[in-house]
Amino acid sequence: MNYHKKTLYDVDVKGKKVLLRCDFNVPQDKSTGAITDDKRIRAALPTLRYLLEQDAAVIACSHLGKPKGTVKPELSLRPVAERLSELLGQPVIFAADCVGADATEKAAALRPGEVLLLENLRFDPREEKNDPEFARALAALAGADGLYVSDAFGTVHRAHASTAGVAAYLPAVSGLLIQKELEIMGGALNDPARPFVAILGGAKVSDKIGVINNLLDKADAILIGGGMAYTFLKAKGYGMGTSLLEADRVDYAREMLEKAAEKGVKLLLPVDTAVHTAFENTDAFLTVAADAIPDGYMGLDIGPKTEAMFADTIRSAGTVVWNGPMGVFEFSAFAHGTNAVAEALAASGAVTIVGGGDSAAAVEQLGYAERMTHISTGGGASLEFLEGRELPGVACLLDAEEN
Ligand code: ADP
Ligand code: MG
Repeated sequence: MNYHKKTLYDVDVKGKKVLLRCDFNVPQDKSTGAITDDKRIRAALPTLRYLLEQDAAVIACSHLGKPKGTVKPELSLRPVAERLSELLGQPVIFAADCVGADATEKAAALRPGEVLLLENLRFDPREEKNDPEFARALAALAGADGLYVSDAFGTVHRAHASTAGVAAYLPAVSGLLIQKELEIMGGALNDPARPFVAILGGAKVSDKIGVINNLLDKADAILIGGGMAYTFLKAKGYGMGTSLLEADRVDYAREMLEKAAEKGVKLLLPVDTAVHTAFENTDAFLTVAADAIPDGYMGLDIGPKTEAMFADTIRSAGTVVWNGPMGVFEFSAFAHGTNAVAEALAASGAVTIVGGGDSAAAVEQLGYAERMTHISTGGGASLEFLEGRELPGVACLLDAEEN
């Protein structure tokens, strides 16, 4: 897919009304509704500040949670408007609907340098249906001379009214967050500094089939750890004890091993693994060779020889894309392999990209976030990106001019 898209720097935003799709899908405290982490709101500030400096009038919109097309007061974006106002240091006007009387009136009255936030888009069933009338009404808020800026990477894999539909009615460009995702991840997939090493892990082979397929065509080496490794090891004929195993994917894993050999892609599987008798956090685990998992034991992390082997490949890489933890990192005893891979990425001079919700969380939790080139902000979206799929929220943006 084409990742070369116009950004807000490529168009004249001065004095324009801009419909800005943000990702304000923030985590909330279940009982009080308080915002427990405002990272996503802070992530929107660079684009917002740029637009305001340019005297644009910004109509921001987002979804929050899964209200499924009905008004759920506990999922109102009003608290986000308040938090955004504190962070921006200026008032944020709030509209109690998206395309109704309140939004229409407030959008019409909005002046350059002011910010309006619409109510939760998903209170309206037409948002997720990508209803053209709803998209047209959203676009109309920005007026005939308006612009659409998309900066919600977390939802670009969805064809919704606010993520794709509106682009039929307004000139559409990317904001700074999406631009960074496209530049770095798109660059790695289209024209990587080599050797290009992909590290794949996480729970299941079946979740990652598209990613494995796509990266086998692009990478020089693929390192497989995490729960999915055991299905690959099984394909080599080893006994896997009670490890996470997808019996119906063993043939697929075998085909991938053959495909890698044909293509000359180095595909590395764990040579040792940490095992235990139960799925629990314990220091009483054993470390065994990958072909010697005892009956009744399950693999919960890669072992130290595998860590060293993976680190060795990472050291000489030009680009590393990592998706999926190497073990059950939520248990401190089995975070070692994930930690070792994170450390190897941090220490390497390669372009390092982390995609996937749990992988990103692991890297942050283990304290390596600052030392990665890029941590993708969209879990599902970054997976579809790595699968090489066309993302509706990206495809709808104006193409950059060739130079
Ligand atoms: P991402 O969100 O980064 O794409 P996944 O959702 O595919 O990653 O996988 C993350 C999950 O995989 C984690 O919850 C982790 O505990 C689990 N996991 C990793 N290794 C194993 C293993 N050996 N056995 C069972 N689960 C594992
Ligand atoms: Mg996940």
